[in-house]
Amino acid sequence: MRRERKAVEEEDEREEEEEEERCEEAADEITEEEEARFASARLRMVERLRKQRIADERVLNAMLRVKRHLFVPPHLRSYAYEDCPLHIGEGQTISAPHMVAIMCHLLDLRKGEKVLEVGAGSGYHAAVLAELVGEEGHVFTIERIRSLVDFASQNLKKAGYEHRVSVFFGNGSLGLPKFAPFDKICVTCASPDVPPPLVEQLKEGGKMVIPLGSVLQDLYLIEKTRSGGIRKERKCAVSFVPLIGKYGFRER
Ligand code: SAM
Repeated sequence: MRRERKAVEEEDEREEEEEEERCEEAADEITEEEEARFASARLRMVERLRKQRIADERVLNAMLRVKRHLFVPPHLRSYAYEDCPLHIGEGQTISAPHMVAIMCHLLDLRKGEKVLEVGAGSGYHAAVLAELVGEEGHVFTIERIRSLVDFASQNLKKAGYEHRVSVFFGNGSLGLPKFAPFDKICVTCASPDVPPPLVEQLKEGGKMVIPLGSVLQDLYLIEKTRSGGIRKERKCAVSFVPLIGKYGFRER
C-alpha cells in the first residue's frame, strides 16, 4: 500500500515537472508575428544609430543581422532594440547597442580575423563580432560567471552562431594563451590598466579596445606596434561593469 502511494506521488511529481518545462518552453517561444515586429524594431535601432553619426555601414549591417532579442531574458525582450544596457542576471548587463557599434568600429574588423572577447555576458557582442569576421574568422569569448557562460552559449546556439563563437569559462584578464595570437581583442568590462597577458596575446599590428578606470572610465584603443610596444589613444567616456581578476579589480 505504502509502495503504491509512493509510486503515485512520484508520478505526480514527474507530471508537475513536465508541466513546468512545457510552460517554460511556451514562454520562450517567439511567434512569426513577434519575429516580424522584432525585425522592424531592429531596423529602427540601426536607423537611430545612423542618426547618432555611427557611419560604419559594415558594423550597422552586422547589427541588422544579429537578433538582439535572442540575447536578453524573455521578460525583457520588448526592450531588446532600445539603445540601453539591460540586466542579464548576476548583476551584469548586455551593453547598449551604440557602445557595441563604437567598439566594433574602432577594432576595424576584417573577414577571416581571429578575435578574443573578454566578458561574454549574453553572447550578443560576440555574435556581432562573428558577423564582422565572417565564416572564415572565429571569435573566442571568455566569461568568469558560470551561469553566464551557459546563458551566452544557449543564446549563441539559438541565434545560429555556435560554430563561429567558442565560449570559455575563466578569468579573461589572463586571455586565452592556447588560442593566441589574436588579430583583435575586445574587452567589455573596465580594467584598472591594460592587462599585460592581453598585450602579449595580441598580434603585432593588432588592435584592442578596452575601458580603463574605476568610477570614471574611458574607452581606449590600443595598437600593438611592430616593435612589440603599444600605442594608446583615449576615445570617449564610458561606463562598464568591472573586470574582476588577477589583472583587474578585486571582487568586493
Ligand atoms: N559582451 C557582453 C554582451 O554582449 O552581453 C556584455 C558584457 S558585460 C558588460 C561584462 C561581462 O564581463 C560580465 O558578464 C562579467 O561577468 C564579465 N567579466 C568581468 N570580469 C571578467 C573576467 N576577469 N573574465 C571574464 N569575464 C569577466
